[in-house]
Formats: sequence, structure tokens, C-alpha cells
Amino acid sequence: MRKTIIVSNRLPVKISEASGEYTLQPSEGGLATGLGSIYREGNNIWIGWPGQEITDSKEQERVTKQLRKMNLMPVYLSQDEINNFYEGFSNETLWPVFHYMAVYAHYEQEHWDYYYQVNKKFRDIIMKVAEPGDIIWIHDYQLLLLPGMIRAEMPEISIGFFQHIPFPSYELFRLVPWRTEILEGMLGADLMGFHTFDDTRHFLNAASRLLPVNTSANIVSYNDRAVVVETFPMGIDFNKYAEMGSDPEVLQQMQHLKENFHQDRLILSIDRLDYSKGILQRLEAFELLLQLHPEYIGKVVLYMIVVPSRDTVSQYKELRDEIDKYVGNINARFRTLAWHPIQYFYRSFPLETLSALYNFADICLVTPMRDGMNLVSKEYVASRNNNDGVLILSEMAGASKELIDAIIVNPNNIGAITRAIVDALNMPLDEQQRRMKQMRTVVAKFNINHWVKLFMTRLQEVNEMQQNML
Ligand code: UDP
Repeated sequence: MRKTIIVSNRLPVKISEASGEYTLQPSEGGLATGLGSIYREGNNIWIGWPGQEITDSKEQERVTKQLRKMNLMPVYLSQDEINNFYEGFSNETLWPVFHYMAVYAHYEQEHWDYYYQVNKKFRDIIMKVAEPGDIIWIHDYQLLLLPGMIRAEMPEISIGFFQHIPFPSYELFRLVPWRTEILEGMLGADLMGFHTFDDTRHFLNAASRLLPVNTSANIVSYNDRAVVVETFPMGIDFNKYAEMGSDPEVLQQMQHLKENFHQDRLILSIDRLDYSKGILQRLEAFELLLQLHPEYIGKVVLYMIVVPSRDTVSQYKELRDEIDKYVGNINARFRTLAWHPIQYFYRSFPLETLSALYNFADICLVTPMRDGMNLVSKEYVASRNNNDGVLILSEMAGASKELIDAIIVNPNNIGAITRAIVDALNMPLDEQQRRMKQMRTVVAKFNINHWVKLFMTRLQEVNEMQQNML
């Protein structure tokens, strides 16, 4: 029977070790939820790295068996591979260039060599299970070479590829020494998806400038094959966030927030530690608010969660230090005995806490310098069952193309962010509700299940179109 193979760098599991033994738990990320309806069915399978270096072969065998029961298949990576393929090429070359932060990029031959080899490793494992007629859906920037590598082995197989981060303008993309190989790898897919029209357009532009291809509208003709490139803005599990609001644990945490913050207005900020998220600029805007509008001193709190990420990389460590310092400085300057302007947390929180915060916060402030989509903004909207609250959203986030009723800001324009906060604090309830209702309609309709269905249906249509062209 025809099966679907999902491939991503990470498997949707959390793995933990206690005295040499590993235990596995399914993880609840958005993508895992959305694709759950696929990979758990029949003989479908999800292939990826379990997220932990496991060297002992007996232990590998044991973990593999457990994973297979969950329809998952592991690709084991050595510490060297993790360092060079994942932290090296993926996160220190592709991530910064694709997020328009080319000054942070390293171009190391060794990182590239590992990137190539690990993509091959994924290919070899896929080859063990793939059969003619199967559908393979590959995810994200760690596996850009994989579509081409599989295509070389199985010219007829159906391959979809989705990139979850931006695809940059040609002027950025051309900086990467291995740009041609990357494009060739991606063009092994039949259907390629991006979050926004701009990403799609940038990819088409890069392909037509760097390769001997014909592009017409959104179709690239390459090696006698037609590759369709389209925009699929990813959604979230709307119902989950909407329903969490009545969970007893969430209600209790909201009560706690109420008791702690009394009449204070809460501005919520949640990101992973990353230079693409504009965290320092956000702090600058908040500082400016307190300087220009002392009437808010003692009345407004910035509740800022930064989730630890990649903090072995020096740029991330430095960013963390800068945030620590800046927060300390603002708190020291403006605090009163009873009030701290910034409640700062450098750790992650369970979903119930996030939900309580989404429900409680008057404003959600999302100002990335660049973001493929940004799910936090959508989760805030989905959580606002009363249709109140204000979202301030960077125009550089993919989500800003859909959430047009947010207050949209340029994240480099500190004054504009400060003004947006003032506007948000003073927005009449009926305007909040008008905007929030519109945004909730969008987030509810274009949810994660809709996204998965749309991509899979389109892949099938593309395959039928290719058949008819033969
Ligand atoms: N998140 C989380 N734990 C936390 C804070 C955030 O799991 O303590 C989740 C959040 O709910 C969201 C995701 O992390 O689903 C962040 O996704 P986003 O697209 O905003 O940014 P990314 O980290 O993927 O760049």
C-alpha cells in the first residue's frame, strides 16, 4: 500500500536519559500535532534525528524499537555531525543568511562537507523504506539537498518540500558559496512550499538567475521536470489554544497572575533566544516608553520570556549577556519598591503557563527582525476567546501577511514600536474586538490541519499534472 514518509531534522519526540537508559515521550510542537494525522496512520512513518547523541549500539537498538512502535524511525547523528551539520552549516550559515543577518554567517568547507554527508545519511535511511508510489514530505533548511538526492535514486517518486524559515532575496542567497548545489537539491522536489509570497518569489528569482532553468509563473522546468513552487502559510492548532482557556490549571494560573499584577497592564513577549527575534530592540522601545511616558511607571509591566536556545554558539551567548544586562539596567533605573518594569525569565514554560499568559496579557509584542512565520502571534490570537487584547506585530514576520489587523510595525523603528505600545494601551475595547475577531477568523480557518491537507492535496495534483505532461 502507498505510504507517506515525513522527514525532518528532529523527530517529534522528547528523549530523556537516566543512568544510561533513554525514555521517549511524544512532543507537542505545532508541526507534530499537524502531521500527527498523517504519520500515525497505517504504515506511514516519520524519519529524523531523535535529538540526542546515542553512541551505544545496544541502546540504539532499544530506542529504535521503541520509536518504531510510534511510527518513527531514527537517524542517529554523532557529536561531530551535530556540531558541523546542525550547529555549523544549518545554524551558522543557512540560518543567518536566510534571516538577512549575513554578518553572522560563517562559510566553512568542513561544515558544508558534513551537511552534504548528513543529507546523504538521511537519504540512505529513506531508501531502506521507500517504495515506488510512496509520497515523501521533507521539512526545512537542514535538509535542502535531500530532495535532489532522493530524486537521483527514485526518479518517479513523489517528493514535497516545505521550508519553515524565510527564503531570502537573491542578493543574500548568492553569498552562500554552495548556492548552486543547494538550489539543485531543492529542485528535486515536485512541490516546494514557503510561508509567504515573498519567499516563493525569492526562490523563483534565485533559481532563474543561478541555474539554466525556465520559470514560468510559479513553475520551474528543470532537468525535464516541472517543479511547482507555492505559498502555504502554516497555521496552528486553533482549537487547542481556544479551549485551553477553560482548563482548570490555566484558570488557576490566571488567578495567580491577577493577584500578582492587580491593575497593572501586561505586555507579553515570548521568543526563543535568537538574534532574528529583535529582543534588544524591543527592550529599547520599552525603555523609551518609560522615558517618554512616565505616567506608565508603576502601571505597565513587560513580561518577557526568552527560551534558551543554541547557547553554545558564541553569538547567542553574547546576545543572552546583552539581554541580561539591558533588563537589569532598565529594572534598576525605573523600578519602585512595589513594581518591576520587566519580569524576565530565561527558561521555557509548560503550555498551561503560556496559555494563562496569552489569556491574561493586554498586549502581545512580537517584533522579530525576520521570522519565517511566528507562531507566538497566532497562539495569542487563538487564545483570546473574549476578542479583546492587542497584537503588535513586526512586518518582517510571515504572520504579518495574514494578521493584517494587528498593529504592524517596522522592528527597526524603535519610536514606532513605542508609539504602537501607547496606541495599544489606549485602544478602545470595540476597536480591540473588531481587530481581534478578524484575526481569529483567519487563524481558526487556516489552521494546521488545513495547512497539511492543502499541501498534500496540492502535491497529488502536481503529480497528476506531471503525469499528463509526459
Ligand atoms: N514555546 C514553548 N515553550 C515556551 C515558550 C514558547 O514551547 O516556554 C513555543 C511557542 O508556544 C511556539 C514556539 O515555541 O509554538 C515558538 O515558535 P515561533 O514560530 O514563534 O518561533 P521559532 O522558535 O520557531 O523561531
